[in-house]
Amino acid sequence: MLKEYLIGIDIGGTKMEAGLVASSGKILLRRKVKTPLKCTKKEFVLSVVNLVRELIAEGDISIKEISGIGIGIPGVIDPVHGKVLLITNLPLTGINLATELRKSFKVHITVGNDANMAALGEHRAGLGRNAHNIVNISVGTGVGGGLIIGGKLITGSFFAGGELGHMIIQMDGPKCTCGKKGCLEAFAGRWAIEKEIRAAVKKGEKTVITKYGQGKLKSIKSRLLKKALDKHDPLVTRVIKEASKALGAACVSIMHIVDPEYIILGGGVIEACGDFMLPLIRKAAESDPFLSTVSGCIIAESTLGDDSIILGAAAAASPDR
Ligand SMILES: [Zn+2]
Repeated sequence: MLKEYLIGIDIGGTKMEAGLVASSGKILLRRKVKTPLKCTKKEFVLSVVNLVRELIAEGDISIKEISGIGIGIPGVIDPVHGKVLLITNLPLTGINLATELRKSFKVHITVGNDANMAALGEHRAGLGRNAHNIVNISVGTGVGGGLIIGGKLITGSFFAGGELGHMIIQMDGPKCTCGKKGCLEAFAGRWAIEKEIRAAVKKGEKTVITKYGQGKLKSIKSRLLKKALDKHDPLVTRVIKEASKALGAACVSIMHIVDPEYIILGGGVIEACGDFMLPLIRKAAESDPFLSTVSGCIIAESTLGDDSIILGAAAAASPDR
């Protein structure tokens, strides 16, 4: 039997999505479920196993036709062994996800950081297809990053490379989830944007967000931010402008370090608010006098969206990679 398919899985803080990927790189079929959060490691693994089984059943194929399964998750991963070294929002720290899944599926299994997988996806099937050096920035609840240098994914000597969200943008700036101050994520991650809006509302500032969210500001989804931007809401506009400026500053640093052909931005915040943010990000990056003379780097929004993780994970799991 020909092994002609790959499976790519994007495991996020709210949903997990698996895609059946053809050797041509096309996603043929997909299945999405809610990420189980309040469960044991064993139960979590079982839910991933079930997701794969359901996808295979729906595709009416056999596991024998699958040549590899790749997984992208938001944490620090040892991609050589498939071990989850550190993850804050899923019950998986310390687990060897590849070994666990191999008990159910006797195929090649690769596990990697989701933003790294997204960078691979962009390099295989997105804007960075023919490029040597590309950088991916995923702006969602947090901010992730992935570096492709000389056509290769760079994860560093201790697998913590490419964590662009924790690049310091402002010394002694706002506190970040990692314990440092002034990280990119503390300006541009959705949690930071939400925090800023909540603090301003507490001080008495008005925003249409309270109306849309029926006064509740517990969670402000990206599409609500977009709605507020469309209404020219002053508070949301100011906060998103600051986030964009921080991303622009990050792009300048990235261009100085890597000098890539593309910096590709994706993630929920960019998907919703990219039209507003990208021109500001580019403007901040273009203000660098040195780079504006020598760099031809293109800063662009991902054309693949979340599919970049599925496609990148599938590519990473390909045995002939
Ligand atoms: Zn940080």
